[in-house]
Amino acid sequence: MLFTVSVVVQLPAHSALAGPLSYSSDQALEPGTLVRVPLGRRETLGVVWDAAAQPDGAQLKPVASVLEGIAPLGAAWRQLVGFAAGYYQRALGEVALAALPPQLRELDAAQWQRRLQRKSRKAAVAAAAEAPPPEPTEEQAQALARIQAEDGPFLLYGSTGSGKTEVYLRAVQEALVADPQAQALVMVPEINLTPQLEERFVARFAPAFGRHALVSMHSGMTPAQRLASWLAAHTGSARIVLGTRMAVFASMPGLRLIVVDEEHDPSYKQQEGARYSARDLAIYRGRLESRHSGQPCRVLLGSATPSLESWHHSRPAADGGKYQRLAMPSRVGAGRLPAVRLVDMGQQPRNTQLAPQLMAAIGARIARGEQAMLLLNRRGYAPVLACGSCDWKSACPHCSAYRVFHKVDRSLRCHHCGFAERVPRACPECGDVDLAPVGRGTERLEEHLTQLFEGIARPGAEGEDRRVRVLRIDADSTRHKGALEEQLAQVHAGAVDVLVGTQMIAKGHDFRRITLVAAVNPDGALFSSDFRAPERLFALLMQAAGRAGRDASQGAASEMWVQTAHPQHALFAALRRHDYPAFADGQLAERMQAAMPPFSFQALVRADARTQQAAQAFLTQASSAATELPGADQVLVYPAVPTAIQRVANVERAQMLIESASRSALQQFLAAWQAVLHSTRRDGGIEGVLRWAIDVDPLMV
Ligand SMILES: [Zn+2]
Ligand SMILES: [Zn+2]
Repeated sequence: MLFTVSVVVQLPAHSALAGPLSYSSDQALEPGTLVRVPLGRRETLGVVWDAAAQPDGAQLKPVASVLEGIAPLGAAWRQLVGFAAGYYQRALGEVALAALPPQLRELDAAQWQRRLQRKSRKAAVAAAAEAPPPEPTEEQAQALARIQAEDGPFLLYGSTGSGKTEVYLRAVQEALVADPQAQALVMVPEINLTPQLEERFVARFAPAFGRHALVSMHSGMTPAQRLASWLAAHTGSARIVLGTRMAVFASMPGLRLIVVDEEHDPSYKQQEGARYSARDLAIYRGRLESRHSGQPCRVLLGSATPSLESWHHSRPAADGGKYQRLAMPSRVGAGRLPAVRLVDMGQQPRNTQLAPQLMAAIGARIARGEQAMLLLNRRGYAPVLACGSCDWKSACPHCSAYRVFHKVDRSLRCHHCGFAERVPRACPECGDVDLAPVGRGTERLEEHLTQLFEGIARPGAEGEDRRVRVLRIDADSTRHKGALEEQLAQVHAGAVDVLVGTQMIAKGHDFRRITLVAAVNPDGALFSSDFRAPERLFALLMQAAGRAGRDASQGAASEMWVQTAHPQHALFAALRRHDYPAFADGQLAERMQAAMPPFSFQALVRADARTQQAAQAFLTQASSAATELPGADQVLVYPAVPTAIQRVANVERAQMLIESASRSALQQFLAAWQAVLHSTRRDGGIEGVLRWAIDVDPLMV
C-alpha cells in the first residue's frame, strides 16, 4: 500500500511554492520523521510535516529514504517552527531546515548509520567538581522561590554583580532534579561568552550528571560538533544546552526551563534570512512546551537593563503585565556600584580627546596597581582620512560611507563591504601629500594613551617593565582564532594596566581588577534617528559600569567616567543614580506618546536594487497595490526611503516602515502582502530589483 506524505524541504528563495510538498511512501511515516526526498535533480533532507495527507491521484515521487534510528521531531518543535515561519514571514522549509544542523543535510542514509554508531561509542569525560556553591543571598532565594511557585514568564531584573548566574544555575538544578527526563536551555547573546558560562555550568553539573549532560550550540562550532550537540539534545542525553540565539530551535523533548541571559541584547535578533527574535520565540516556546507536555516549561529572562518591551510586559498584572518581575537590586557581598562622574566636554579645549581629570584618575589607578578600561565604540584609527588641500575624503567607491583609516597596516578599509586598499602616498585628487586622519577610533586612542603614559612608571617595576601597558581589544585585534581568549587572559593575569576597546569588552566579562571604566565619546547615540539608540546606550553604559569593582572590596572605590557635551541629559542623570527604572519609565512615557513600540507594532520591508529609484519604486508600487488587503485599514504604510547607509557594495537599499496598533492586523496584512510583493517583483516591470525582505519587529529602524 502507498501512503501520501507532506514533506517540508528547503526551496530556493522567492520560490512560488511555499508549503510542504507531497511524496509517496510505502510505509506510514510519523510527522517529524527525517527523510531524504528527490527535489528537481537532486536529493534533499526533508521533515515529514502532516499526518498522512489525503491520497491523491497524481503520480507522486517516492520518498528516497528515511533516516533510521532517530526519533521524529516533536509536535511542539514543529509548531514552534511553523509559528516562526508565519510570524516572521518566511517559507516554512527555510525556517525548518535552518533549525537543523547543517551536516544533517549532507549525510545519506548509510553515512547517517555510521555517524550514529560513532556517537554511541563516544565515552564521557570526567570533570572536576567545583567548590561547594555559595549559599544564595536573600534576594536570590526569594527569586528562586517565586520561580518554583509561579509559572512565569519571569523577568529577573538584577543589577550587575547581583548574582543572576547563580539564580540560573539553581533554577536549572531544581528543574533537572525534579524530573530525570527534564532538560534546560540556557541562552547567551555572544559566542565569546559561552566558554565562561560553560565552565561554571560544567563545574556545577558535571559531577552529578556527567560531562556529557551538557552541550553547547553556536555558530563557532564545527559541523560535526554541531551535529553531535544537536543529537545529544534531541535524544535527551544532554540535559543542558548552552547556546546563542540559534539554540532556541534545538530539539529538546524534555524541555522544562529556558533561560535567556542579557535578554536586552540586540544579538538575539537575527539580522538576515528569517529575522527572528530568539528572546520572543523563547517566550512562545515556553507556552507551547507547557501545553504539549502538560508540565510547566518556565522561561526566565535576565538583565540589569531589560529591553523596554520586557520591562513593560513585567509591569504589575493589575496594569496588564504578563511577566513576573523578580528584582535583585543588591550586589553580592554588599558591594556597591561605582560612582558615576560626568566630564563636561563643553568646558574642555576643542578636540580634547581625554580630559585632564580623567587622565589623572587613570594615572592614580595605575599607581595603585589597579586597572582601567576605556570604551570607544569605533574601531580603526580614524573614521575618515582627508586631504588638507582639496576636499578629497576616503569615501568607499562601492558604498555611501567612508573607509576607515587603520594605521596598524596603513590601510583604508570599508566596514560595510570590506573593500580595502593601502593608504595612498598622496591625495588621489590633487597629489598633495598632506593627508590627515579625522576623528578618533580605538587604535588612535590606544596610541594616544601610550604616548601620554610614556614618562610614567608603574610602581615596583624595573627597566622595560616600568612602562604602562595598554591593550586594545576590538574586532580587529581579535580577528584570529584564539586571539580574544589570549587577550582576555592577559587582562585577568594583570599584565595590562589600561584596556581600550569597543562594546565587545563591556559585555559580561568578569574583570576582577578593573576599578575605573570610562566612556570616551558616547554622545552620538543621544541624537540618533533610531529611537532605540538611547536604550542601547544606557544598557551599554550600565553594563560597562558593571565591569568596575567586581571585587566587592573595591566596589566602593570604583568609578565610571563619562565624557559628554551634554551632562544635563536625562539619560546621564539616571545613569548617575544607577536608576534603570527611572530611565525606562521616562523612555516608555515618550514612546507611549509617540505610539512607538511596545505601544505599537512595526515591520520593515527592505528592497535592494541596482538604483535607488528602482528600490523605492518597487516598494511604492507594491504598497499602492496593498490598500485593499485584509488588515490594511488598521495599518499605516510610510513612504519608501533610503536606508541609513543607502549604498553598500554597489547595491542601493531602500526601506518602508509599516506600523499598526494591532499586532494581529499587522500580521494579517503582511501575510497577504507577501503575494503582492512577489508579483510586483515578477510582473511589476521595474528593472534592477535584486531582492526584498520583511523584517518583523525590527530592532534597527
Ligand atoms: Zn587633495
Ligand atoms: Zn564599501
